[in-house]
Amino acid sequence: MLKTLKSAEDIKTFRTEIQTSNHKIKVGFVPTMGSLHEGHLELIRQSQKDNDVTVVSIFVNPTQFNNRNDFDSYPNRLKSDLDSLAELKVQAVIVPEEKDIYPNGYTFKLTESQDSLDLCGKARPGHFDGVLTVLIKLFNLLQPQNVYMGLKDYQQYKLVKGMAADLFLDLEVVGVPTVREDSGLALSSRNFNLTDEQKVVADQYAQIFAKDISLETLRKELERLNLKIDYLVEKWGRRFVAVFIGDVRLIDNRPLVKNHE
Ligand code: AMP
Repeated sequence: MLKTLKSAEDIKTFRTEIQTSNHKIKVGFVPTMGSLHEGHLELIRQSQKDNDVTVVSIFVNPTQFNNRNDFDSYPNRLKSDLDSLAELKVQAVIVPEEKDIYPNGYTFKLTESQDSLDLCGKARPGHFDGVLTVLIKLFNLLQPQNVYMGLKDYQQYKLVKGMAADLFLDLEVVGVPTVREDSGLALSSRNFNLTDEQKVVADQYAQIFAKDISLETLRKELERLNLKIDYLVEKWGRRFVAVFIGDVRLIDNRPLVKNHE
């Protein structure tokens, strides 16, 4: 049975309940913003392989959106998400409201002052402070042994791993390779907001991004499509891209050395 946890108290009680059984229960945690797709499900399956109990959170965290419009238009499919989690036999889902996570507003926050300022952090000021703050709160409440993050959001993965090491958190951050459509398009909840025409452009962008060509040629090829490039750079041994197709912002990255993830 899928347990629904809403408040901080619910999460702590759940943690205590599973802890009281006779052997040390391993908890895997998959934080998400919902509108679940195969990428999320891959993280969940990986967690189920490694742990006794898997907990998923679904929370569209307002503090990581620097743009109200982007927050308002973020897809919401809670009913079908809960059905998917029940089908996968996930033990518990955390679906808090804003007041549960930020009882005192957002006066205390966790700030990273280096890697979070580039790429998505440059385009979305304060985004990663919001991500790290909500995650440290959820980690403190649930106290998972393992946390699963997609390499699709590599900068986020790197920052969460860095936070865990720097704050001496007693947990492992596990990176899971990007799940893609046949076209190479990385699965994303934001893909649900693409019109049919925009989806065609998105597939073309993904095919071009997969090519083994210079950054310059890649930029030229992308510029021929009906999209706006936010960034296209190489860093941390990877190639990173963010584009707008209409109002939909899509990101992706690939390792520079082939067959590495
Ligand atoms: P989100 O709901 O977009 O915040 O994503 C929740 C988690 O799922 C994050 O760790 C993402 O990196 C991961 N994720 C999202 N899309 C994919 C994908 N296509 N492949 C693998 N992981 C993903």
